[in-house]
Amino acid sequence: MEIPESFYRKLLDSLSDGVYFVDRERRITSWNHGAERITGYSGEEVVGSYCWNNLLRHVDGEGRELCHAGCPLAETVADGQDRETDVALLHKGGHRVPVKVRAVAIRDASGEIIGAVETFQDETEHHETRQRAEELRRLAFLDPLTGVGNRRWAEAELASRLGEAQRHGFTFGLLFVDIDRFKSVNDRFGHETGDAVLRLVATTLRHAARGHDFVGRWGGEELVVLAAHCPGPTLGTVAERLRVLVESSRATTPAGPLSVTVSIGAALARPDDTPEALVARADGLMYRAKAEGRNRVVTES
Ligand code: GH3
Ligand code: MG
Ligand code: MG
Repeated sequence: MEIPESFYRKLLDSLSDGVYFVDRERRITSWNHGAERITGYSGEEVVGSYCWNNLLRHVDGEGRELCHAGCPLAETVADGQDRETDVALLHKGGHRVPVKVRAVAIRDASGEIIGAVETFQDETEHHETRQRAEELRRLAFLDPLTGVGNRRWAEAELASRLGEAQRHGFTFGLLFVDIDRFKSVNDRFGHETGDAVLRLVATTLRHAARGHDFVGRWGGEELVVLAAHCPGPTLGTVAERLRVLVESSRATTPAGPLSVTVSIGAALARPDDTPEALVARADGLMYRAKAEGRNRVVTES
């Protein structure tokens, strides 16, 4: 069956991706409707010019112009390898469009490279959706003052980890962390300094936490840490390390450097725990730490 040339043309134009062909000198020989739509340039404006005329001025993720150093089409024409890369092209209207670019070599019947085809896909929507999702997540789940997880996230995380632990039979620890004599920080230095201290403690915990741990603000000057995969004896060690790190941190305040301490209740999740029961145990242990003099960790014996 002889397929007429016009069919290929139609096929190319029916794609939503931009597609263009270049010969060995990188002269553009074909430019489909998708390419027109994504770049703003019509076929008449582009076909016959060289891609190194730098019409589209591809810029990579680091802001480097690719046309004269690192053009994926030139490299593919040279070595025959397929390439895929994320770049931003310059639309005729002057704005940047993020695209995923693929370059594939075209060979003649004898295997000789005679040019290359570039396809590119408009990533704007992916980008915007991702950014919007990120923004919503931040608003819904992060505590605006400290930047750690908020109460809502902490509760959701606790419930999901408890479920997982019960299904899979491993355990984790809940650390209930309360800043000592925090009211007096506010009273002596003002609420803004209090806020700075709160941020410092949260940041210290966040930096000290390991990969799968979770740090959240439970409320007021109380934070929780979910210590993942934590057998009993380890939990006390983890809590003690956090306590020492907070004690040895310093907030910069108008009144000079300022340190605070925390009291920590450390409870291990049990197979029959509800989130409320686990929190109540950790909270109770934290109060024992207060009663025993503050700036200490109390674990279940
Ligand atoms: P204790 O050692 O017994 O925990 O003493 P404390 O003073 O820390 O405890 P108390 O519960 O009496 O006081 C907690 C204080 O935390 C009261 C409140 O003013 C302060 N606080 C709660 N949330 C915030 C906040 O977002 N910013 C600031 N600056 N202070 C807060
Ligand atoms: Mg408190
Ligand atoms: Mg307190």
